[in-house]
Amino acid sequence: MPVLEVGSVTKYYGSDPVLNAVNVSVEERDHIGLVGRNGTGKTTLLRIMAGTLDYDSGSVMAAPGRTVGYLAQGLGYDSGNTLYEEMRGAFARAFSIADEMRELERQMADPEVAGSERLLDRVMQRYSRLSTEFEICGGYDYDVRIKTTLFGLGFREDDLNRVIDTLSGGQKVRVALARMLCLAPDVLLLDEPTNHLDVDACEWLEGYLRSFAGAFVVVSHDRYFLDAITSKTWDLDGRTIAEYPGNYTFFVAQKE
Ligand code: ADP
Repeated sequence: MPVLEVGSVTKYYGSDPVLNAVNVSVEERDHIGLVGRNGTGKTTLLRIMAGTLDYDSGSVMAAPGRTVGYLAQGLGYDSGNTLYEEMRGAFARAFSIADEMRELERQMADPEVAGSERLLDRVMQRYSRLSTEFEICGGYDYDVRIKTTLFGLGFREDDLNRVIDTLSGGQKVRVALARMLCLAPDVLLLDEPTNHLDVDACEWLEGYLRSFAGAFVVVSHDRYFLDAITSKTWDLDGRTIAEYPGNYTFFVAQKE
């Protein structure tokens, strides 16, 4: 079952058609490059998939319980929080699970619960499910994940306590990217993520996305970047999409 499915989506801006009955689906672990000339509708399609733009007909469906994250092109991040605090916010689910686990621990110590096999069993089962989720959500290693991501994208230890609103425009774009990566949605939609990255950060992002366990759709003008990270290509041409089962170089050879 696809994690995200676009069914026959048609989009007009005023009376101008941009997408005509586009059908695509993102499968588990799909690493997709979305390419096409400027102005063909790549950003439009990503925004429709992300649920931030209306369309005229068709459907967009995420599989139940699956999350979709969208990183807009060149959009920075505004916040009065420090860089570290803001990144910590990406792990909010882990912290709320930790609170719930503490409450369950309190219940287990309660003589009324401890004295009842049925009650204790129920609490312990819930506790066991939560501890698994806590680990998956980064409860044990959020600090490492935050620092690996930020340092990979070119931030340094002394930046962690800087207030985001005082960062430069390019740094804010990198914060938005870092936060999105830490949120780790099931499907990442990335519009030109390498803008504002230097060579080292680009290489780091390449490695990160190559081994990303979820699915992503990425728009990029950097063919080397696309070649390194994608195994499918969506070519947006003539208001519709053709899918190629390979990276950018494969797609160009096939299209010719
Ligand atoms: P791409 O990402 O492939 O460069 P876009 O999705 O940004 O393409 O835009 C597709 C077409 O729709 C372009 O011709 C663009 O000018 C037009 N367009 C984009 N946004 C709007 C809008 N809000 N109103 C009217 N036309 C738009």
